[in-house]
Amino acid sequence: MFFANTYSHQKCQFCLDVSHEKLASISSLADDPHARYFANQELGLKLWVVISGIELTLRNRASALLISEFGEELFSTGAWRLGSAAESRIQKVSARSKATSLSANDLITQLPLSFWTLLFSKRMESTTWPVLMRSLINGAAPTSRGVLYSRLLETLELRNRIAHHEVVLKARFQGALERQLELLSWISIDFKREAEARINFSLQPVESQHEQ
Ligand SMILES: [Zn+2]
Repeated sequence: MFFANTYSHQKCQFCLDVSHEKLASISSLADDPHARYFANQELGLKLWVVISGIELTLRNRASALLISEFGEELFSTGAWRLGSAAESRIQKVSARSKATSLSANDLITQLPLSFWTLLFSKRMESTTWPVLMRSLINGAAPTSRGVLYSRLLETLELRNRIAHHEVVLKARFQGALERQLELLSWISIDFKREAEARINFSLQPVESQHEQ
């Protein structure tokens, strides 16, 4: 590999450690690769605040609504009603539990976001969807199950990308922060307002910390 004699990000340890490949995959207008890296981190942190809010409010509210409608057995012997994909996630959590029998509450906190997303899938149109549409989402939310489901699939994809340190500042995720904030507002307008007011931060230094 050829290295220029002048300062070059090609041989910069920061860039080598992050990887040039990752830095090149970030959709940022910044020329400086370090600024590009932190622009991606900044978006990831902001999304994480919003996505955590979606996951937490969805889990707490949906589980309470479903238990009041179908009883606690929906998360144990009655899990078949949720379809095989959701049922297998419940079984997986139960199987890895060291306790002989996990309380419904403990099980619910360990279920992955993919479980809650499945409640909005097409096959749940006549079971969980009517309950969630009636009581989980507010009047500002679309009444189309498909819109909510696809929005939640984006939540899930972004959550996994951030958790695995993959780039989220990409053209195909343009507007994702606004979309995820909107999704959060459909579940909890208070949480959305609070989160939105707190993600107004920047990871870029006031003055550049390194030589150009
Ligand atoms: Zn560098």
